[in-house]
Amino acid sequence: MFTALARDLTGALTLPGEPLYKELAGGFNVAIAARPAAIVEARDPQDVVAAVRFAAATGHPIAVQATGHGLADAMDGAILVHTGRLDECVVHPDGWARVGAGVRWQQVLDAAAPHGLAPLCGSAPGVGVVGYTTGGGLGPVARTFGWASDRVRAIEIVTGDGAARRVTADDEPDLFWGIRGGKGALGIVTALEFDLVPLPAVHAGALYFDGTDAAAVLHGWRSWTRSLPREATTSIALLQLPPLPGVPAPLAGRFTVAVRFAWTGTTEDGETVLAPIRAVATPLIDTVRTIPYAAIGTVHADPTDPMPVHESTDLLSSLPAEAADALLAVAGPAAGSPQVIVELRHLGGALADPPRHPSALCHRDAAYSLITVGVLAPPIAAAVPAHGEQVRAALAPWATGGALPNLGAATGAERVARSYDALTLARLTELAERYDPAHVLRAGQVPVRAAA
Ligand SMILES: Cc1cc2nc3c(=O)[nH]c(=O)nc-3n(C[C@H](O)[C@H](O)[C@H](O)COP(=O)(O)OP(=O)(O)OC[C@H]3O[C@@H](n4cnc5c(N)ncnc54)[C@H](O)[C@@H]3O)c2cc1C
Repeated sequence: MFTALARDLTGALTLPGEPLYKELAGGFNVAIAARPAAIVEARDPQDVVAAVRFAAATGHPIAVQATGHGLADAMDGAILVHTGRLDECVVHPDGWARVGAGVRWQQVLDAAAPHGLAPLCGSAPGVGVVGYTTGGGLGPVARTFGWASDRVRAIEIVTGDGAARRVTADDEPDLFWGIRGGKGALGIVTALEFDLVPLPAVHAGALYFDGTDAAAVLHGWRSWTRSLPREATTSIALLQLPPLPGVPAPLAGRFTVAVRFAWTGTTEDGETVLAPIRAVATPLIDTVRTIPYAAIGTVHADPTDPMPVHESTDLLSSLPAEAADALLAVAGPAAGSPQVIVELRHLGGALADPPRHPSALCHRDAAYSLITVGVLAPPIAAAVPAHGEQVRAALAPWATGGALPNLGAATGAERVARSYDALTLARLTELAERYDPAHVLRAGQVPVRAAA
């Protein structure tokens, strides 16, 4: 059935059972077994056009994947466009970059560093630029520089109607609005152009505390964040890291708390701002120092190996002492939590500024984001999802009801409705009807018409 499609492609077509199929369809979350009907390894935008048109003609859903970090559903019966070979990465010394849809952040970090420039990547540099940026993009220096999606200059995309388009604020303004925040709702991005920021180095790292200090550290962090200037971006993570290779001995197999910190001002000022939280207890490990921005991935030290995970997520409007106590009661050292990570990120600062060009990214006024990550391995596998909901329930009095499209990869109407406010969702849905009349974009993360 796919012979006609294969004939139209420059890249390869891979079917179930063929050698590269599992590798290409696989993702970071190995709890989800992806089963696309065929995989197109796009070599150029024309391959994406061919795949989208073939999907429309044959009734297949279409999905897109670069790295699999956001794998959210099985993509059953879909034609999966794999963008890994769209690997162009050009940094312009006057402050912007152009990348193909298969590029990961570390490539851009390394290409931008010699020019003293920095892309607004996330905590894990192995994540793909396009999936991250189309979902907003919340990174370790976000309170200074804002959302990655607000730095986009131009997007090259094959919309659901099979047309290849170049989208800017002036050309195709509707699409420019909807792709930034709408993830894959309107089409498959083939290339992205975005501004970089001048930031050769950053004063950054993490303070790791013992679990016995969890209450002092969480309460200290909570009040510290209330007066932080926007040069400071921070998050806190309640950690129960397994004793695996790569996990530092003082953190392995026990409850610890990490305070991540990235400061975009001078080293001296960064030290002064960090001092109160550094003094709240004695850190087991203190990695905060001035580092090249290209090493920003060391701040969160996110896992890089695929694993079976379950995530729950929310946004909070505030974090009073009662909220911190509620979190400790359900996920603190005495709670018997099965989660590997329960993380709060401090938002605000530049994240709450109005964007230069409005976009589909919502919830800019949230004060904190919450995410739980649990490993679905025996004997705790069954307990992880239910406990994730218990954490959300414990913090419900402070939850906004919203969620960021990027965090906690998921599909389904309820999740989509939380990612957008009602007006945005209605406009995105209307755009999806216009640019994807055959409704081919119905697999993968956040296909908006799941909520229609
Ligand atoms: C360890 C880890 C750390 C993370 N840290 C952060 C963080 O700090 N901040 C943050 O904001 N997010 C973070 N995320 C979430 C991440 O940004 C999203 O999962 C993102 O979708 C990953 O993009 P990808 O291309 O790498 O993944 P993929 O699984 O390849 O793609 C996921 C989804 O992105 C969209 N997408 C991908 N490529 C295209 C394309 N060419 N055109 C249109 N849509 C596309 C689609 O909706 C697709 O379903 C993290 C995820 C992980 C696993």
